[in-house]
Amino acid sequence: MIPFLDLQAVNNPYRKEFHAVMERILDRGWLILGQEVEAFESEFADYCGVRHCIGVGNGLDALHLVLRAWNIGPGDEVIVPAHTFIATWLAVTHTGATPVPVEPQLTSYNLDPDCIEEAITARTRAIVPVHLYGQPADMDVINTIAQRHGLKVLEDAAQAHGALYRGKRVGGLGDAAGFSFYPVKNLGALGDGGAVTTNDDQLADALRLLRNYGSRHKYHNEVVGFNSRLDELQAALLRVKLRHLDRCNEHRRRIANLYREGLQGLDLVIPAVPEWADPVWHLFVIRHVKRDWLQQKLSEAGVGTLIHYPVPPYRQPAYAAMALKNGRFPVTEALHDTVLSLPIGPTMTMDQAYEVIEAVTHAEP
Ligand SMILES: *Cc1c(COP(=O)(O)O)cnc(C)c1O
Repeated sequence: MIPFLDLQAVNNPYRKEFHAVMERILDRGWLILGQEVEAFESEFADYCGVRHCIGVGNGLDALHLVLRAWNIGPGDEVIVPAHTFIATWLAVTHTGATPVPVEPQLTSYNLDPDCIEEAITARTRAIVPVHLYGQPADMDVINTIAQRHGLKVLEDAAQAHGALYRGKRVGGLGDAAGFSFYPVKNLGALGDGGAVTTNDDQLADALRLLRNYGSRHKYHNEVVGFNSRLDELQAALLRVKLRHLDRCNEHRRRIANLYREGLQGLDLVIPAVPEWADPVWHLFVIRHVKRDWLQQKLSEAGVGTLIHYPVPPYRQPAYAAMALKNGRFPVTEALHDTVLSLPIGPTMTMDQAYEVIEAVTHAEP
């Protein structure tokens, strides 16, 4: 049996270091916004090549709080990919603004820059490109459009820790970026966690207030804030795993390369990688016209797969009020009908990858 992702195995190598971390935290007795969060923020900012990192409670809050800090709210519109995890949309909705979906490219799965301008109105305030499945969006083109229309750009980097766009790390490619440290992400905690990265001093300051009750000094509340802090324990665990992130991403790249070679010539679509992208393969997503059938065949062969995502945000009951008709986003619909995520992860073996290739090859009719 090849599991889709063996999270137990992912964290096992760090067991000893995690225990040491726990001892250190217990000895110190400081649990919220202390030196571990500060150290992680500084280390992750360096890693992303930006001036600031602000640890928050999760990836959704990272995105939401940035939009809040930009005073985006009711009456405003924010451009989001039609094809993404629902959190990208929720971050906009929670500010009171309206998410405006834009089609992805069939080849890269990412926001199609050619479809952005027709979605811009007088109310548009920001664009939120997602580096979906670990592959960077085409940020130069998106930034140029944003500049032309006076819009902010917020990267949703929740699936792309360490990915490179034209040699530069995601997280520093727009005005700000939101990261998630949800356990299965490329950099995952042992619980929830998130962060914003930015080069904007003012934004960083505003976020430090917003995440902590609007408070710089205890019991003095400057703005209506939230409680959304990365906690000391998760920050300390993340510091351990950050040191191994590049190695883990490199391992994912090796598996992806095996897949991309081994699955050639079959009746399916392998993810395309633009020459300016160095993805970190959070997911390895193929497309197949008989996707459900292939998933069933692979399951019978002992290969775990998942679908990212079975239902687009605009067809969720949560967004029923938007009443976007099925078929208005043909590219998104086509993706949702055909995508299948193969197993990939930092502890998957090359032999397992060969077995997956075998299973897919033999599933072909
Ligand atoms: C995981 C994820 C998020 C949200 O992160 P949480 O930490 O679960 O809140 C946002 N956007 C994308 C694309 C994600 O994959």
